[in-house]
Amino acid sequence: MSLVTHDLIIIGAGPAGLTAGLYAGRSRLKTMILEKLSVGGRILLTESIENYPGFVDGIITADLIKRIEEQVKKLEVKIKPEEVLELDCKSMSVKSGSKAYSAHAIIIATGAHPKRLGIIGEEKFTGRGVSYCATCDGAFYKEKSVVIIGGGNSMAEEALFLTRFAKQVNIVHRRSELRASAVLQERLKKNKKINFVLNSVVSEIIGSNKVESVKIKDMTSGEERVLPCEGVFIYVGYAPETQFIKEKLKLDDTGFIITQDDLSTSAEGIFACGDCRKKTLYQVITACG
Ligand code: NAP
Repeated sequence: MSLVTHDLIIIGAGPAGLTAGLYAGRSRLKTMILEKLSVGGRILLTESIENYPGFVDGIITADLIKRIEEQVKKLEVKIKPEEVLELDCKSMSVKSGSKAYSAHAIIIATGAHPKRLGIIGEEKFTGRGVSYCATCDGAFYKEKSVVIIGGGNSMAEEALFLTRFAKQVNIVHRRSELRASAVLQERLKKNKKINFVLNSVVSEIIGSNKVESVKIKDMTSGEERVLPCEGVFIYVGYAPETQFIKEKLKLDDTGFIITQDDLSTSAEGIFACGDCRKKTLYQVITACG
């Protein structure tokens, strides 16, 4: 297997990896970014971004990513569609299928994927009514009733997106308060299509060939009831894409990479940035920063 050598390899072409590529390109480092899916990563599951500085009315996510990608490519940074399967910290190399690449330094920017809830019916109905991406699947629920689970910013943004299509969006959250930002909560409360089902959890997703209802348990009274719906959108947080580096770098209990202030990891020459590392704020702006 031939080893192609670079100054820097970046794994992941989301906002963090692309921005790292931008800075590397400006430093004239021979840089390659390897991305297993599409340039932009998980953020493309969101239609628009409202809190990226400089865009008063927000920006369509795909447009922001396209701009960053153009900026990076202009600096002759290569972006290759390849999935990294192995990282070797000693030889400072990565393997993707039959190819191997080495570098003086490696940046891991692999991001995170939506967490599963682990309830009955979730796996069975994924793609048949259960979704983790309202932006991708929302339009299938025109004039239908849907349930969205979670209490964070992802849930709030996507619940608002779903109101463009669905006739009713039922937010099921396990506590009495959401953790989503105030501005999003205000919008949710004003929207007549939103129905809050608080202090409650979905314990089962029910249907024959596709989703027909969910079983909801009230956390205060313990009572259970069935809520008819045709779609279930799950937004209960994200888990890091760090399976391939397990046992190679220091991770926290939930798999996020532990880094120092300079973003160095437990292995010399290997750095991490974006949503795959342990930090306090998971925002596009902090991923880029
Ligand atoms: P999150 O903030 O971690 O929220 C996950 C939500 O799911 C929480 O409300 C949590 O409930 C609930 N949850 C977790 N496990 C559950 C379970 N087993 N059963 C029922 N409910 C469960 O996740 P997120 O909304 O995906 O956001 C991830 C990060 O990205 C956050 O830092 C967020 O601020 C950021 N983000 C920012 C923006 C933005 O700035 N526009 C947009 C999207 C995401 P509890 O509240 O009870 O813990």
